[in-house]
Amino acid sequence: MTNYGLVIDQERCIGCQACAVSCKQENNVPMGQFWNRVLTEGGDKIDTPSGGYPEDGGSGSLDMQYQPTACQHCENAPCVKVCPVNATYTRDDGIVEIDYDKCIGCRYCMAACPYNARVFNWDEPEHMPEEGTGDVAARPQGVVEKCTFCSHRVDEGLDPACVVNCPADARIFGDLDDESSTVSKYINEYETDQLLEDRGTNPKTHYISGEMSPGRPQTSDKLESELDDVSPWSDGTEDVPSEASGSDSSDSGGGHHSIEGDAVPHVPAVGSGGDD
Ligand code: SF4
Ligand code: SF4
Repeated sequence: MTNYGLVIDQERCIGCQACAVSCKQENNVPMGQFWNRVLTEGGDKIDTPSGGYPEDGGSGSLDMQYQPTACQHCENAPCVKVCPVNATYTRDDGIVEIDYDKCIGCRYCMAACPYNARVFNWDEPEHMPEEGTGDVAARPQGVVEKCTFCSHRVDEGLDPACVVNCPADARIFGDLDDESSTVSKYINEYETDQLLEDRGTNPKTHYISGEMSPGRPQTSDKLESELDDVSPWSDGTEDVPSEASGSDSSDSGGGHHSIEGDAVPHVPAVGSGGDD
């Protein structure tokens, strides 16, 4: 069964906030609210690294890391459990969603969410521009809202807006239950963390924060097709998922299966006019 998840590569993330802004625009997120935020690890402010310059008595070693954060689409979601009217629910494909017609604004889910992923419309929401770029209806006053993994796009076979608009290819979306998907390969190949693992929520967002491995592939279709050539998954001697050898691929020659293996293909960004 499909089980959507996200990998965020913090070694690639440059903190540009494109994911946050494109999410806001795509989903018609009200002014003053963000479903997707980019937190800074290191310095106190977004433009302040940790460490210090030698002339200021520091070692000269400066460091800055970013942690994009949104709804983690927890497998064991506390927000789903506490919702008294079943307005928050988990879809068959693992996406946690809100039925805004059912939401009574009790905000139990906000209290239950350990990731601070939800926002409440205290007032009549104000939008700028008036309509988002996605086909997503505005939510009314008095309801809670949050990231949907862009389910309206996923239902059309597209990646979430934050994924296609990330200029650093730091976000990878796909089916965690498909061993040949790129997200599964990343999780199998690299050390990944989930936020607040001790809470038992089993988030479906995984973070890579280790050293950049040489040859780590980008995720555009073009480079994705070269993934097997540059990674240890390719030679058939490592931990290559056995199904990945392409039973459903028409190209049986070289074991190139990565694009077909992704449940949701990468597509040009909304309104970007393409990659080139
Ligand atoms: S768009 Fe990509 S690089 Fe920019 S902040 Fe978001 S994850 Fe990081
Ligand atoms: S991150 Fe919060 S809102 Fe999202 S599924 Fe988990 S508990 Fe629910």
